[in-house]
Amino acid sequence: MTSGIAVCLLTLTAQTSIPTTTPAETLARVVDFFRAMPVAAIGVASFGPLDLDPGSPTAGFITATTKPGWSHVDVAGGIGRALGVPVSIDTDVNGAALGEQRWGAGVGFDPLVYVTVGTGIGGGAVIGGRRVHGLVHPEMGHMRIPRELTDTFAGACPFHADCLEGLASGRAIRERCGLPGEALAADDPVWELEARYLAFGLVNVISVLSPRRIVIGGGVMRQPRLLARVRGEVRTILAGYVRSPAVIDAIEQYIVPPALGERAGVLGALALAHDTITSSENACRQGSASTS
Ligand code: ZN
Repeated sequence: MTSGIAVCLLTLTAQTSIPTTTPAETLARVVDFFRAMPVAAIGVASFGPLDLDPGSPTAGFITATTKPGWSHVDVAGGIGRALGVPVSIDTDVNGAALGEQRWGAGVGFDPLVYVTVGTGIGGGAVIGGRRVHGLVHPEMGHMRIPRELTDTFAGACPFHADCLEGLASGRAIRERCGLPGEALAADDPVWELEARYLAFGLVNVISVLSPRRIVIGGGVMRQPRLLARVRGEVRTILAGYVRSPAVIDAIEQYIVPPALGERAGVLGALALAHDTITSSENACRQGSASTS
């Protein structure tokens, strides 16, 4: 869990990294970090799943997670009560999508989708300038994809076995190969399979949301030739059906790595905090205008 604060957007004036241990210990350290400085609002881009329904009695809570001890923890409320400031919370991937759209590889692109391929797989989206929520929030990592006929790996997702995350996450690579992705050679055959599975996921996202750009990051994507392979597979699977020059002629500019790198999430959280302040200022202005 990383936290930061800025007095000027894109200027991080203090930054720290706090290991995610128990909820009580982790959140206490987050609060202690911010107590040492003036704070107007907090933005949280958190692992999920989260309750983001503003009308829910458990809004801002983590719901049921496989992360030990973190199910049903009130992250937003706990931080907000301790610091006495408004807290805006979203998923880490929606936060990263927001950060990349505002300051990174997604500037000028809407809808924008951000996908991370790490230990797990997650995706966030900003459409019409709004982070996508709904019944809950997108769970792009758990979409179903067709598995290759020659692939006998059962899958690593504890809920669905062979969903996208179950077949193509960093955890899946480790379980499939007995080694982490970073220990595998660039020409290991698993990367072809990995690229095809990730491409199926992206094609599904393209088919449903029609993003103008996809930003894809995460530890697994550091494999040097993987992104180029994913682009090629996306074009192959689409088979010319999406008649856009972005896909047909310029896919290198359509599926891109994050420009903010590891800072996408924390800058997304800053954007959340900034928007909280801006919207409350606008509400005050409208309120004073209507009473004058
Ligand atoms: Zn799953």
